[in-house]
Amino acid sequence: MSDKFPDLIDPLLFAERRGALSGDIKIAQFERLADSVIDDGAAVNVSIEFGKEGKRIVIAGHIAGVAGLECQSCLQAMAWPLDIDFKLAVVSSLQEAKQLDDCEPLLLDGDTLSLIAVLEDEILLALPDYPRHEHNCLAHNRSEDAGYSATDSQTKANNPFSVLAKLKKTGD
Ligand SMILES: [Zn+2]
Repeated sequence: MSDKFPDLIDPLLFAERRGALSGDIKIAQFERLADSVIDDGAAVNVSIEFGKEGKRIVIAGHIAGVAGLECQSCLQAMAWPLDIDFKLAVVSSLQEAKQLDDCEPLLLDGDTLSLIAVLEDEILLALPDYPRHEHNCLAHNRSEDAGYSATDSQTKANNPFSVLAKLKKTGD
């Protein structure tokens, strides 16, 4: 965990101070992404802002980066760009969640919140169920061997006697 990104935070404290966090987080730190992301050495850039709308704690943020996924057709790596905007409101019950209109509910059990878990959820939602290259990658990987050789025709063209022989024939 980087210094800039504490995992467990008190969202109320951050909201009242209108706190903000930003920085890079290695994909390897998101344990639940381990099955789908193959390049876990990569990092995502995250920025989060905390605030209050009325009594409600609101957490808005952005996640940007590239996740390396395995194409389900050719089993080769494919880059999946991440560009995620989220806005969450902390709620303590499902009933409260239903009252939200412009935010997604974030059900909080207790006083602390795992930022890693929140970001992990957002990234998981943005990943495709069945990643595949856009182009026909199986056909693309088949190499085509032209096997063309120009040597024979060049030798014939450069031989002046073949031209003479032709002229003699037509003159007869
Ligand atoms: Zn593919």
